[in-house]
Parts: sequence; C-alpha cells; structure tokens
Amino acid sequence: MSIEENLLHIRELIAAAARRAGRDPETVRLVAVSKTKPASAVDEAARAGQRLFGENYVQEFTVKAKEVSAPVEWHFIGALQSNKVRQIAGLVTLIHSVDRLSLVQEIERQWAKLDATCDVLIQVNIAGEATKSGTTAADLITLVKEVATLPHLRVRGLMTMPPFFDDPDGARPYFRELKRLAGVVAAEGIPRVAMEELSMGMSGDFEAAVEEGATLVRIGTSLFGVRHYHR
Ligand SMILES: *Cc1c(COP(=O)(O)O)cnc(C)c1O
Repeated sequence: MSIEENLLHIRELIAAAARRAGRDPETVRLVAVSKTKPASAVDEAARAGQRLFGENYVQEFTVKAKEVSAPVEWHFIGALQSNKVRQIAGLVTLIHSVDRLSLVQEIERQWAKLDATCDVLIQVNIAGEATKSGTTAADLITLVKEVATLPHLRVRGLMTMPPFFDDPDGARPYFRELKRLAGVVAAEGIPRVAMEELSMGMSGDFEAAVEEGATLVRIGTSLFGVRHYHR
C-alpha cells in the first residue's frame, strides 16, 4: 500500500476509535513518525495531506528538515540530549520528551535566545522501565512546577511510551494512568500549565490510546512501513 493509502486507512481507524469513545475525531492529531525515512517519504505524505511529522534523532532531523520541500510542522519525540537542544531550537513546535530539569533549563536558554516560547509535554515512565526515558509519576508534579517558573517554556500535557505488548489492550492501563496523572496535575492549578494534550499510542496500539483519550498519536511503521535500521 502507498503512503497515501496507509494515511487514509489510519485516519479512518483514528476517527472510528474516537467515535467509539464518544469523542470528536477532530480532537486527535496524527503525528507521522518519519525517523529513518527519507525526506521524499515526508514529501509524499505531505502531498497526501499530512502536515505534522515527528522525529527522534537530532542529526537526522536537522538534515531532513532542510531537504523536505513541503511546508510541514515538526515535533521532536525522541530522547533528547541537552547539548543538542540548540540544533532544534525554532525548528519544532512541540517537544514530547521532556523528562528532567537539566533538559528543561537548556530549552529555556535556547528558546530565550529566539525570544520565543517552546511548547513541551512531560514524558512519564509509568512502568518505571530502566530502558525508557521519562520522569517517574512521583517526580512529575515537581518537574511541572519547575517548568512553570520558566518564561520560555509552556507545558501543554503529558506523553508516555508503555512497555511493549503483543496485545494492544496490554497498553491500555498505561494510557488510563497517563490520563489520570494529567488530571492530578491539572487539579494542582499551576499557573501557565495546561493539561490539554495526551501523546500516547503508536502503530500497534493507537486505537486503544484514542479510546482512552489520546490527543496526539505517534505513528511510524503503519504509515511508512518497517524501518530498516535502528539506532
Ligand atoms: C518510533 C517511535 C514511534 C512510532 O512507532 P511505530 O511503532 O513505528 O508507530 C512513536 N513514538 C516514539 C517516541 C518513537 O520513538
């Protein structure tokens, strides 16, 4: 199937999942995860109507961003080293993977230079997996409060990557927990902090994520095909 056909199919599945949950399909945005895929794949998806793309690797992303000719919007979704933040400053409209104070401080520094505000999501490692990034649920409120004091960042919501399950329903408790945590943060009433975005769901489990309240689903494989290398 072509990227265009995949896109149409994924959009239908997202809309159907939203309707099953009594949600307006318009409240769910698809982040097309183009890591390891060439600029031509991004342009092809853009021609089929996709505007929002997610990238994981700074080096790969900055090269690709120059090569893509379509007017697209980029989100950064991968693990981010503080010393690389400078390279993506101003190029992305949302960072999904903010999980520690040192990173937050560097984003503040770089976006201050641009006199701009960086929208961020706080990544939560709900299962506490050692191999995954993310703040713990216990440290979440502290981190959000710290971000809230910085003028060039704005917290828009939460992101999670659950453990891998063969059964898409396996991830559901993690999606529910992320939504619950967003409610806990919202109840704190921290100034300048919004809990309006829930970034959760990938190729294997995005329908469950939408049913559980995702506003951003990050989909790579189902859209662009399998990735032939992994870093
Ligand atoms: C690669 C990646 C995705 C997309 O995963 P697929 O299973 O290919 O859809 C989503 N989110 C993050 C953070 C990723 O690194």
